[in-house]
Amino acid sequence: MFLAGKRALITGSTSGIGLAIARALKGEGAEVVLNGFGDADEIAKLCVELDAMHIGADLTRREGCEELMEATGPVDILVNNAGMQHVAPIEDFPPDKWDAIIALNLTSAFHTARLAVPYMKEQGWGRIICTASAHSLTASPYKAAYVAAKHGLTGLVKTIALEVAESGVTANCISPGYVWTPLVENQIPDTMAARNMSRDDVIKEVILERQPTKRFSQPEEIGAMALFLCSEAAQNVTGANFSMDGGWTAQ
Ligand code: NAD
Repeated sequence: MFLAGKRALITGSTSGIGLAIARALKGEGAEVVLNGFGDADEIAKLCVELDAMHIGADLTRREGCEELMEATGPVDILVNNAGMQHVAPIEDFPPDKWDAIIALNLTSAFHTARLAVPYMKEQGWGRIICTASAHSLTASPYKAAYVAAKHGLTGLVKTIALEVAESGVTANCISPGYVWTPLVENQIPDTMAARNMSRDDVIKEVILERQPTKRFSQPEEIGAMALFLCSEAAQNVTGANFSMDGGWTAQ
């Protein structure tokens, strides 16, 4: 239980990868704080399962980020994971979707990190982990906002890592390829429309086509990497971006 006594805030942890990271950190004794949207009964069950507090702040808003940090209090581990996707050609990309994706997938990580860092530096220990994406390293058509935000996120994390390098605080990105979560499932209809393809063809020819291993990652695999980054073995690992993408970005 090497995380006993540590408090971890995981944004976007009512589902998918964030929930798996919360479970992994809880499994090593961390106190976890959940954030994200969803069915109230389901979230209440998660709070019981993980003995956790849930703060449903909307992180597309600066005030939401500030409320989340205020309500959570000091954190030893900050996982910026909340994210959303929208798939459309650039000429049809709704400007409101662009604004929301940049706000959630990039700007919220700036706000939570700027508010979390002072306590981490004071303690001489801290972990900032951001769920980026293979799309932080490479692009795909029809995902302008997502690709721009994820590329930006890795730049933000590298900058934070350098600024806090001597303080015992590390900052890293994990970059999954396709992980089977609601985020992937929900983009299938839009991709079907954008590319005029069937569901099976989207899965086979668009999604798994990118991953040489031809398999989806499981959320628990991302949780295991987050746990490693919180361990003492990773104390000198900072400013890095870990690909977990089945070989996608090796191509
Ligand atoms: P998901 O849709 O299962 O989870 C997203 C989480 O973010 C949910 O808890 C949701 O409630 C929360 N959220 C959405 N809007 C929010 C808002 N405005 N404020 C606060 N929380 C909000 O998706 P996921 O696949 O688990 O994605 C998690 C992260 O992993 C995202 O940053 C995503 O870009 C990244 N990622 C996912 C994949 C994949 O294949 N699933 C691949 C690479 C990167």
